Amino acid sequence: MALLKREEWQDFVRNVDWTLSYVDDEAVYPDWLSGTGKVPREAWLTWEEGYKVSYSEYVYTQREKEASTFAVKAALQRTSTFDHLDEGWKSSTKMHFGGVAQVEYTAMLAELKMARFGLNAAWRNMAVYGQLDELRHNALTTFFGHELIVKDPQFDWTQKAYSTNDWVPIALRTLFDGFMTTSNAVDCALMLPLTFETGFTNLQFVALSADAMQAGDINFANMISSIQTDEARHSQQGVATLEILVEHDPQRAQWIIDKGFWSNARAFAALTGPAMDYYTPLEHRKQSYREFMEEWIVDQFIRTIEDYGLKKPWFWDEFMRGLDTWHHSLHMGMWWWRPTLWWNPTAGVSKDERDWLREKYPNWEAVYGDKWDVIIDNVNANNVQATLPETLPWLCSTCHLPMCNPTQARDGSWRIRDHKLDYNGKKLHFCSLGCRQIWWKDRDNVNHQTLVDRFLDGQIQPMTVEGILGYMGMTPEVMGDDPNYSAWTRDYQGREARGLIRIGE
Ligand code: FE
Ligand code: FE
Repeated sequence: MALLKREEWQDFVRNVDWTLSYVDDEAVYPDWLSGTGKVPREAWLTWEEGYKVSYSEYVYTQREKEASTFAVKAALQRTSTFDHLDEGWKSSTKMHFGGVAQVEYTAMLAELKMARFGLNAAWRNMAVYGQLDELRHNALTTFFGHELIVKDPQFDWTQKAYSTNDWVPIALRTLFDGFMTTSNAVDCALMLPLTFETGFTNLQFVALSADAMQAGDINFANMISSIQTDEARHSQQGVATLEILVEHDPQRAQWIIDKGFWSNARAFAALTGPAMDYYTPLEHRKQSYREFMEEWIVDQFIRTIEDYGLKKPWFWDEFMRGLDTWHHSLHMGMWWWRPTLWWNPTAGVSKDERDWLREKYPNWEAVYGDKWDVIIDNVNANNVQATLPETLPWLCSTCHLPMCNPTQARDGSWRIRDHKLDYNGKKLHFCSLGCRQIWWKDRDNVNHQTLVDRFLDGQIQPMTVEGILGYMGMTPEVMGDDPNYSAWTRDYQGREARGLIRIGE
């Protein structure tokens, strides 16, 4: 029997569709799940992915990837590589495991939504592969993290984090429910494969993988780069969907991408920013967070959307200014509230590290230097107690992150501003103008309550630091602490005694 050539069967198998005769199209593809909106139904017939795969090719490639990832893992399991990794670096991986493993599962549900409600058969076909990809990422990340629990109980949060009421997962659920769980297929394609996977995951998976190699964590680098190869394929759903939406409803395309971009930028500032600029040992840092953002996001992503006739998001200037502050503030805040983290954040402000920070961020010293000095002197005066939280920070109603973005006033001073909004008899607080605008435009959506809302509502009992930690699911053996206070304070020893800086000032 003669076999057909690939190009003869490819189109047929990747795009099998038919006209429904027993039911209405609208019953099978309801707008609230499919999201065609102003786009005529037949416009989706031209949906086409740039890089085509058949199921047999998919299975073959994935099998190869799994085999090589597990071969490296098996080889390294017999070595003591992990035990010699830097604590700061291990923290980056703990944060990644807890922050990503179960999100991959949510991503699988999002892919399944597109596999069922995508408006073109080729799209649904791609999404089936995407769904298998995400299930693999969930399994791989959970499995790699699980193996480390015997070495360090914080790795238990690989599986646990996403279903707790810790403030970090609440912020992540708010983000990911918004673009994976509650979105229709079209909006989902613009926020997940396009904004998140074409833009931001490169940052976490490509850049962090480079840092992992530098830090000697080959196993981790190997795992995340294997995952990234899948992302590169299924993220094509984004551009293919954008092409059609932009032609019929450019305003909607712009808004969805802007919103997705902003929410991602906030979350990555909280997680990837500190991992790159503070947790990764100085000698292993390839580029600063800002440099990575400029290369991978600002240049590449913006070029992509401009190619489709879209503009830079409305908040562009606020976002660009934030590249110098957001993640530094969030790092300081997370370090301060370290008992609420499942990793050990290193402060990372020794003299050498500070030189590096000043070189990469010329305003760093002016905005953060004096605050860290107070913390350093308290540690050196044996008063670590004074560096621990006693209250809750106000959390932004959109991104759920602490309100800690300083902006420069005309007189040159740096201040945190509370962007307020009175709505329906309630006063809401936002970390930034971008967050406030998004909340306002999306005000009819269901929003998660922030941890502070829950606290004020009496949902957290007893209303003490212990009560809050209990509500978060935090237990003493997991609770974050600085891995090595002296590493970043010893350069300054004696200064507090000499009274060069008065503590508490
Ligand atoms: Fe994934
Ligand atoms: Fe915010």
